[in-house]
Amino acid sequence: AKESGRNCYHCFTPSMQESVVQRMQLIHDLHIALEAQQFLLYFQPIVCLKTGKIQKAEALIRWNHPLHGVVLPCEFIPLAEETRLITGIGEWLFNEGCRSLKKLQQAFGSDFELSINVSPVQFLDSKSGLLPWLEKLTGQGLNASSIVIEITEGLLMTSSEESLSTLLHFRDAGIQVALDDFGTGYSSLAYIQQYDIDYLKIDREFVRQIPESTDSRVLCESIIVMAHRLGIKVIAEGIETKAQERVLTEMGCDYAQGYLYSKPVTLNEFIK
Ligand code: C2E
Ligand code: CA
Ligand code: CA
Ligand code: CA
Repeated sequence: AKESGRNCYHCFTPSMQESVVQRMQLIHDLHIALEAQQFLLYFQPIVCLKTGKIQKAEALIRWNHPLHGVVLPCEFIPLAEETRLITGIGEWLFNEGCRSLKKLQQAFGSDFELSINVSPVQFLDSKSGLLPWLEKLTGQGLNASSIVIEITEGLLMTSSEESLSTLLHFRDAGIQVALDDFGTGYSSLAYIQQYDIDYLKIDREFVRQIPESTDSRVLCESIIVMAHRLGIKVIAEGIETKAQERVLTEMGCDYAQGYLYSKPVTLNEFIK
C-alpha cells in the first residue's frame, strides 16, 4: 500500500495484485524448474486385492522448489496446463517414468506396470508432445503394455478429433489406458466401451464414505459389476482403512491404492 504511487495495478485488490505477481513468478519458476530438473517422481503402490501383491505403481509428480521445498501437483499442474508448459513437463515425466519402470521391473518382475497421468492439454499438442513417446518406448527396450496412461473423462468427451486419434494411436501401440477419477465427471459407460479402456479408477470420494454410506456402497458395487461385464478391471483409489479394503474386496474390486498401503514415496523407498 505504501508504494501504491508507482503501482500500475490500482484497480486490483491487494490480494488479487499479489496473485498476479505470484502467477508470473510461478510461470517463471516453472520454466527454470524444467531446465534445472527440479521435478521429482514419487510412486504409490497399487495392490492386487486377490493376491495382496504390489503389481503396479502410479507415478506422481513433485516439484522440489529451491525456496519452498516439495510442492504438490495441485499447486502447479493447472498453471502448467494453461501455459502449455505441461508438454515439456510431460516429456520429462515420460523419460523419467521409463527409467524408473526399468528399475521397478528389475525389483518386482517384468510384468510390473507403471501408471502415468496425462493431462488433456497434452493431447492437444500431441505431435510435439505425446506421439514421440511411442517411438522412444521401443528404443528403451520396454514393453508398451507395461505403461498405463491415466486419462480423465473430459478427454473422452472432447470434440477434438486429434486428441481422440492420438489416444487410439496409443491403444494401437499396446499402451494401456486407465480412466481416472471415475464417478466425478460426466461418466458414461458408452465412452468406456468406445475407447477400449483397460482400467477404471473409482474416485476416492466414493471410497471415503465406505462402509458407512449405503449409497457409496451401492455405487461402487454397480461400477465394479458393470466394468467387469465390459471386461474392464477396477482400481479403488484412496483406500485408508482395513474396513474399506474388506468391503471392496468382497465386491470383487481388482486393485486398491491408498494410504493403507503407502503414501507416494521416492523410487528408492518404493523398492525397499
Ligand atoms: P490423482 O491422479 O487422482 O492421484 C491420486 C492423488 O491422491 C495423489 O495426490 C495421491 O497422493 C493421493 N492419494 C493417494 N492415496 C490416498 C489416500 O489414501 N488418501 C488421500 N487423502 N489421498 C490419497 P497428488 O500426488 O497430490 O496428486 C494430485 C493430482 O495431481 C493427481 O490426482 C493428478 O490429477 C495430478 N498429477 C499428479 N502427478 C501428475 C503428473 O505427473 N501429470 C499430470 N498431468 N498430473 C499429475
Ligand atoms: Ca491418477
Ligand atoms: Ca484419481
Ligand atoms: Ca481392454
